[in-house]
Amino acid sequence: MNKIFSNDGSSVLAYIGLGSNLQNPAQQIQNAQKAFNNLDGVRYLKCSSLYRSSPMGPQDQPDYINAVIAISTILEPLTLLSHLQAIEQQQGRVRQSQRWTARTLDLDLLLYSDQIINLPELIVPHRGISERDFVLYPLQEIAPNLLIPGKGKIADLIKHCPSYGLERISA
Ligand code: ADP
Ligand code: MG
Repeated sequence: MNKIFSNDGSSVLAYIGLGSNLQNPAQQIQNAQKAFNNLDGVRYLKCSSLYRSSPMGPQDQPDYINAVIAISTILEPLTLLSHLQAIEQQQGRVRQSQRWTARTLDLDLLLYSDQIINLPELIVPHRGISERDFVLYPLQEIAPNLLIPGKGKIADLIKHCPSYGLERISA
């Protein structure tokens, strides 16, 4: 596939949070990495280790596998969001009306450059970013000096976010 990617300085750095707790989660994360590699307008940069976390909300579901990916992209934020949702669909995501239910793949746009976005369908930095150990720890692993717009340095956020039960499972 031909990748369309300009290097004219218009690309921005973005971070995506990945989560899966159904149908071989580690494989789901790996397949999502491949999907990013094949996406026009996106350059896959790196992925954190995989982490195991306890579910938020309903507890009658398996543990999650989480990771964070860094990409460079020329896509606008809403276009990127629609691609994230398309990848979720391709990997068998069934959207439930109840939040935080089991899913094959959840892709959240955590950060898009240093932008603050408040649209009905897209909030960036992702809501909850500063309270979720399964987001902050993998994010810090690949971006230790990150400044999260409106929230502060990642190292300071982590100081207030103990990682109860979060387990790093692979490099
Ligand atoms: P959750 O991740 O909270 O379990 P979903 O993945 O089903 O729920 O997302 C619900 C909605 O959240 C989506 O329809 C999307 O429009 C919205 N949303 C708002 N901000 C973001 C973001 N930064 N990344 C991904 N989705 C977002
Ligand atoms: Mg989501």
